[in-house]
Amino acid sequence: DSSSGSSGFFSKRTFPGRVPAGIGRKSLRIVVTGGAGFVGSHLVDKLISRGDEVTVIDNFFTGRKENLVHLFGNPRFELIRHDVVEPILLEVDQIYHLACPASPVHYKYNPTNVMGTLNMLGLAKRVGARFLLTSTSEVYGDPLEHPQKETYWGNVNPIGERSCYDEGKRTAETLTMDYHRGADAEVRIARIFNTYGPRMCLDDGRVVSNFVAQVIRKQPMTVYGDGKQTRSFQYVSDLVDGLVALMEGEHVGPFNLGNPGEFTMLELAEVVKETIDSSATIEFKPNTADDPHKRKPDISKAKELLNWEPRISLREGLPLMVNDFRNRILNGDEGKGL
Ligand code: NAD
Ligand code: UDP
Ligand code: UDP
Repeated sequence: DSSSGSSGFFSKRTFPGRVPAGIGRKSLRIVVTGGAGFVGSHLVDKLISRGDEVTVIDNFFTGRKENLVHLFGNPRFELIRHDVVEPILLEVDQIYHLACPASPVHYKYNPTNVMGTLNMLGLAKRVGARFLLTSTSEVYGDPLEHPQKETYWGNVNPIGERSCYDEGKRTAETLTMDYHRGADAEVRIARIFNTYGPRMCLDDGRVVSNFVAQVIRKQPMTVYGDGKQTRSFQYVSDLVDGLVALMEGEHVGPFNLGNPGEFTMLELAEVVKETIDSSATIEFKPNTADDPHKRKPDISKAKELLNWEPRISLREGLPLMVNDFRNRILNGDEGKGL
């Protein structure tokens, strides 16, 4: 029962003089690593709006100050430029650990998943904070089970081009469970499926951002391979609700957080075309190595134990990101870090 569980958690951690955060609980001190990124900045908005104190740790590898600029000057918000690969000392109640080079063009370069996760777990252990890891559906690799349940161990190529990300996140899950079992750290693990929405990086090569940006720029949508591979696309606010429900519930996980609606890339291109410009075209390009053929979350566990399920379909969610993309493209902001 997450409601009674979380009130117990909050009541252990009240601080004199703290701003009340709504009826029945005090505000928490929350760290969001990667909080200047796409998902992180939406999560920070939600935490700030419910009255918590949020410290973002970000090195701006792919994140942007613009995603947080509306919070500058808010006394409950703090931004630290820091690489989580280096240790850091803070006093906090909860850590949402999102920092990660998360897209194909970026994730090859960086030991963040291992060293960054270790440092944040060390911090959680030292101060007794609750730690949430944002893992990924990529831990299932090119899955041989469909849809994927949390009990599936995955089919990952350990030496392939994507393996830095897949295996990095698998290692991060292992470290998280080791700290849980060995150091009694309070942990949560989310396995996030493909997510889209405003503030997505424009240039990081993910399919939704590529298609939307291409159609706005009047370029053809680049469909890799035959376009028959599938993905399941979740709108960012649904994910943020799921992350908060997971953090505040009593279950470690892992939990799949994704929208079970499954689309081929050709179907996605069709929805983008219907949404933005009926004259949009596609062009085929060679696919990348080890591309998973299909992916769709089984979310029964999150429905049952977190009382969570996504509410926004692809057709409802896509229009919600178009204005943001149009403005950024018009302003010549290609979405790179500052
Ligand atoms: P993003 O690239 O927008 O955000 C990642 C953030 O982490 C950026 O702000 C970046 O600057 C920061 N960062 C990277 N390395 C860092 C380091 N060493 N130290 C400090 N900050 C660092 O990506 P996102 O889509 O918002 O992803 C957030 C998390 O969710 C990631 O852990 C990602 O693996 C996970 N995830 C996302 C998706 C998705 O579809 N968006 C799917 C599965 C998992
Ligand atoms: N760490 C950190 N902040 C803290 C506590 C630990 O960054 O407040 C880092 C620490 O530098 C180490 C990692 O987290 O690299 C793991 O810490 P832990 O105490 O678990 O391991 P140990 O230092 O004993 O190897
Ligand atoms: N993809 C595509 N065109 C693009 C970018 C990606 O057809 O411009 C395909 C890619 O080959 C993959 C799917 O879209 O099959 C999802 O790719 P993405 O990188 O967004 O996410 P992931 O592979 O991590 O699920």
